[in-house]
Amino acid sequence: MKSASNKPIIGISMCLLGTNVRHDGGNCANSFANKSLSEFFEWHPVCPEVGSGMSTPRPAMRLVQTESGIRLRESQSGKDRTEQLTTYCASLVQKLSTLPLQGFILKSKSPSCGLKRVMVYGEKGNKVAARNGLFTEALQQALPFLPIEEDGRLNDVTLREHFVERVYAYGRWTAFRANKPQPKHLVQFQQRHKMQLYAHDPRLAQKLGRLAGNHGESSFEDVLKNYEATFFECLSNPTKHGRHANVLHHLMGFLKNTLDSGDKQELLEQIEAYRLRHTPLAVPLMLLNHHLRRHPHPWVGSQTYLEPYPGALRHGQILVG
Ligand code: SF4
Repeated sequence: MKSASNKPIIGISMCLLGTNVRHDGGNCANSFANKSLSEFFEWHPVCPEVGSGMSTPRPAMRLVQTESGIRLRESQSGKDRTEQLTTYCASLVQKLSTLPLQGFILKSKSPSCGLKRVMVYGEKGNKVAARNGLFTEALQQALPFLPIEEDGRLNDVTLREHFVERVYAYGRWTAFRANKPQPKHLVQFQQRHKMQLYAHDPRLAQKLGRLAGNHGESSFEDVLKNYEATFFECLSNPTKHGRHANVLHHLMGFLKNTLDSGDKQELLEQIEAYRLRHTPLAVPLMLLNHHLRRHPHPWVGSQTYLEPYPGALRHGQILVG
């Protein structure tokens, strides 16, 4: 299910959209999210701290490692805010679980919204570890496969593309699950994603092929759960130039009897130029898509690899992969 605008719904830390909810009364507006991505995504903003009843402005807080576990405390006074925030986060993620979210963009380093790199302090103020913020922890427990990214990492085009790719894959998977699939539908789902999965992790892609086609003694529901976990594990691994080149060569093989020698040579040269990082992936991919329009091939044409997200994201220079 998508939004009324038919755009994927993405959760986002409210301060990233420019709303003044930060502890200092300001915001952390992320221009990329506000200007570029908002054309493609519908935002679902949340501020766990303000939602839990905290005021703006409010005292700065931090995570502290204590004998009774991780606590959220005001940095100056030491006042404990753990129960207030975690109680609210539990109800918030329960509500979020009922929405057709396809991803989440979080404010880095916040003791509530940060992802992995939130500093944890000892009782004496020394840094002892880094971990998720308390809201992020609750979100990942409730929705373990939801694509999540931090604001700062969206400035890197490779990380940005990886996030967007996973957002759309998550949307296809949740739509597939909602349609009460039968075993033959899982085989079809796997076939469509086969080359996209190979570009991420050939070993896991092979495992997914076996899971989709051979259910053995397991119930189909167990197969779907196993497939889901492996599917998102596979897509979470970053692609590599060599793997993309292998996939492009493989897809080109289906057209070997229809392309003339000049077209073949040109495509091979562009794949090699991409492998050597002389040109972006979009170049051999556009050439391959161009040949497929002239010489349609049902199996190749069905591959999500050829358009893992709407082409407008790439053509609009938001993703240049
Ligand atoms: S980081 Fe999270 S909790 Fe902090 S102001 Fe932003 S949305 Fe609110």
